[in-house]
Amino acid sequence: MQTLTSGANSIGIPLASAQIEQFRAFAALLAEWNQKMNLTAITESEDVQKKHFLDCLAGLPLVAEEIGASLPPNKTLACVDIGTGAGFPGIPLKIAWPNLKLTLVDGTAKKIRFLEEVVATLELENVTLVQGRAEELGRHRRFRGQFDLATARAVARLNTLTEYVLPFVRQSGLAVIYKGPNAAEEFMEARNAIEMLGGETVRFSPVGVPTLDEERRVLLIRKTRKTPKHYPRQQGLPRKEPL
Ligand code: SAH
Repeated sequence: MQTLTSGANSIGIPLASAQIEQFRAFAALLAEWNQKMNLTAITESEDVQKKHFLDCLAGLPLVAEEIGASLPPNKTLACVDIGTGAGFPGIPLKIAWPNLKLTLVDGTAKKIRFLEEVVATLELENVTLVQGRAEELGRHRRFRGQFDLATARAVARLNTLTEYVLPFVRQSGLAVIYKGPNAAEEFMEARNAIEMLGGETVRFSPVGVPTLDEERRVLLIRKTRKTPKHYPRQQGLPRKEPL
């Protein structure tokens, strides 16, 4: 876990040995389960440390700065990770920020089964797992407007993704969206959706992922108004007919 340890240090997130052990156990479960099911295409240990763990952690300094918290943040906030898959970025953020109250959402039952094992093995507290589609959960009272933060990485194009994510965020909370090299183009396409759903872009920042020579951006959208109640639309409409 040397790549992870020194990389995290260099972005201002020193990890204690218990946290490194949690990352190690997470990596072991990923490798083990990936032999039985397709969880991630990234399997080699160095790549897991860079493209999963450090990539997810790289958004944290930006979030901490925006919410006026130290690093790692000491605030207890509620965060939902939409389309978390094998737990990204939710689980790395939770390890680095232990008092985060985390909800992980994914549409696929087998991902949720994997995450149950991760939560048990890593002995993570205050993690809730929910199987369901974002378009449906975003309409439920239990989830809508309930989160200080909502994260997503590699789930959908930005114009679709904002309709999945913003309904979960409480007013003046933040959506934290991880994007790769197409970020600028997707952003132009999504400006209307962001506005319609009650959001205001506060940052669209390039983030350096230690040891990774690829372009990454994190988009922070502040929810300044309530999302109108006919959003999110259901039956796959956010994807088929993006705003
Ligand atoms: N965020 C993870 C996984 C990306 S793969 C990562 O960065 O590695 C996309 C995941 O989003 C899949 O697990 C898929 O089941 C889930 N997903 C896609 N659309 C969804 C939706 N509308 N609601 C809930 N989950 C969704």
